[in-house]
Amino acid sequence: ARSVHQIQSGQVIIDLCSVAKELVENSLDAGATTVEVRFKNNGLDLIEVQDNGSGISPENYENVALKHYTSKLSSYDDLSRLHTFGFRGEALSSLCALSEFHIVTAKADQVPRANRLDFEPSGKLDKTQIVAGQKGTTASVEGIFKRLPVRRRELEKNIKREYGKVLNLLHAYACISAGVRFSVRNTVGKTKNVVVFSTNGNRTTKENIANVYGAKTLSALIPLDLKLEFEPSSVTRRAASSEPVNQMEVRGHISRPVFGEGRQTPDRQMFFVNSRPCGLPQIAKAFNEVYKSFNVSQSPFIFADFQMDTNAYDVNVSPDKRTILLHDAGALIESLKTSL
Ligand code: ADP
Ligand code: MG
Repeated sequence: ARSVHQIQSGQVIIDLCSVAKELVENSLDAGATTVEVRFKNNGLDLIEVQDNGSGISPENYENVALKHYTSKLSSYDDLSRLHTFGFRGEALSSLCALSEFHIVTAKADQVPRANRLDFEPSGKLDKTQIVAGQKGTTASVEGIFKRLPVRRRELEKNIKREYGKVLNLLHAYACISAGVRFSVRNTVGKTKNVVVFSTNGNRTTKENIANVYGAKTLSALIPLDLKLEFEPSSVTRRAASSEPVNQMEVRGHISRPVFGEGRQTPDRQMFFVNSRPCGLPQIAKAFNEVYKSFNVSQSPFIFADFQMDTNAYDVNVSPDKRTILLHDAGALIESLKTSL
């Protein structure tokens, strides 16, 4: 019988993108300056993320994959002003339920020794073993969804599209993560460990974009740097414990409007809230409408990071944390259109 844990896990980890998102965010939370993502067979056989971050302390081996274990929250109050990506302690426990999951990890003072941790589907630590390793953590997800056969078949059927989506998401993390050397590799059949894309640990998002999308894309971009002010809605005003949020900044890069034929930039739109990649469909629509109103035939390349107070939005609307609810989306969009 399918356990409750498995079913709940399937709501946290819904596809390849969720796997990549959770593992990469853990690496970034651990202070990594290199992150390497490796796929086998486009992720069907393996998705693995290696980082050079803090590593996991031996006293936490028993707990890391237990449901609701997190090292990132000291009190409930922290939830409202959180700056790490994770905080719910659900990712690793869900991955244990849905795949063959293991970790290799070492703190700086343990190198060249590292510890391999294998887990039971429940998230309970099954065994540990000393192996050779560098500082940091490698998390390996083999055979994702193997215990949910319908979901697994669905993934196999759509793997080309799903792999494309996960690469787009990884582009977004690679571009936004200034100071982090990012690389993605894939092994399909005899083509082993091919570098799909990489960044050089650049200091700016602009250089990251050049690494990922090419220098030609960069030359077609103009900086996006807006300060938006708007009227907070009455709902937000009532809910706010302090002064309601009425301003935010938007930073990034957008393509210069192109009139006539010929694409110069890839058709890509990436949105971030406080440097967290996320979908913001209403905001995307606003950008595209402004470009249309210029009579521009092509949809713009957009890389836009919305910097705002953590009170201005809610990431807790869905278990996979991918949807972000902006409390004052309407007022914000009006102000954005005017500024653009
Ligand atoms: P959360 O990120 O919400 O805390 P996770 O289930 O993603 O929950 O991870 C559980 C815990 O495992 C984290 O709080 C952290 O202590 C540890 N951990 C996971 N991945 C890494 C990593 N790459 N480097 C260091 N510690 C990690
Ligand atoms: Mg996490």
